[in-house]
Amino acid sequence: MILAFEIIGKIAFFILILVTFLIIFGVLLFLISFKTGKYPIPGIFSGLIDAFYSPIRFIVEKIGLDPKHFNSIVVDVKNSINVDNFKKIPPKERAIVLPQCLRSIKCPAKLSSVNGIECVKCGSCYIKEFKEKTEALGYRIFILPGGTFVKRVLEGARPKAVLGIACFNDLFEGIRICEKVRIPVQGVLLKTTGCVETLVDWDEVWEKVFLGVDRNETKSS
Ligand code: SF4
Repeated sequence: MILAFEIIGKIAFFILILVTFLIIFGVLLFLISFKTGKYPIPGIFSGLIDAFYSPIRFIVEKIGLDPKHFNSIVVDVKNSINVDNFKKIPPKERAIVLPQCLRSIKCPAKLSSVNGIECVKCGSCYIKEFKEKTEALGYRIFILPGGTFVKRVLEGARPKAVLGIACFNDLFEGIRICEKVRIPVQGVLLKTTGCVETLVDWDEVWEKVFLGVDRNETKSS
C-alpha cells in the first residue's frame, strides 16, 4: 500500500514538473514572438495555447506584455497553422463571419435564427459593399450576433473554410470551434471593441479574402 502511494506520488510530481515546464515553454514562445514578430514551432505553440491558455496568459500579463499583443499573437499563431489548408479551399466553399457590431447603428436588418443578421444592403455601412464584392467571388457572408452562432453556420451552411472577424473572445472561441471540426480558419481582430459601430482593418480582411485566390483571374472573369 505504501509502495502504491509512493508510485502515485512520483507520477503526480512528474506530471507537475512537466506541466510547469510546458507552461514556462509557452511563456517563452510568447516572449520570443513579441520580440521577433515571428512564431516559432507554430503547431506546438498552438497546442500549448489550447492546453494552458489561462496560466500562460496570467504569467505573460504579469511580466508586462500588453493584452492586445497577447491577443494578436494568439490569432497570428492560429492563422499561421491554418493558412495553407485555408488556401486550398475555393471561395465558393468558404464562409465569412462578421460580427453584428460592425454594422451601422441605424441598421434595418432583421435577425434570422438560422443565418444571423440578414443585411438588406441599405448602404449605411461598408458591409453592403463588402458583401457584394465577396459574394461575387463566391463567398457566403454571415453577420452573427455572437460566437455561439458559429456552430449554427457550420451545421447549416457546411463551409469547408471560414474567415472570421471579431473581438478576441469571440474570435478565439470561433477558431477553436472550427479547429475541433477540422475546418481551416483565418481570423482578423477588430481594431476597436465596445459592441457598437466597431472598426476593423478592411485591408487586412481583404488580404485574407484573397488568400489562395488568383486576383488577376477574378478581375478578368
Ligand atoms: S449595409 Fe447591411 S449591415 Fe450595413 S447597416 Fe445596411 S443593412 Fe445593416
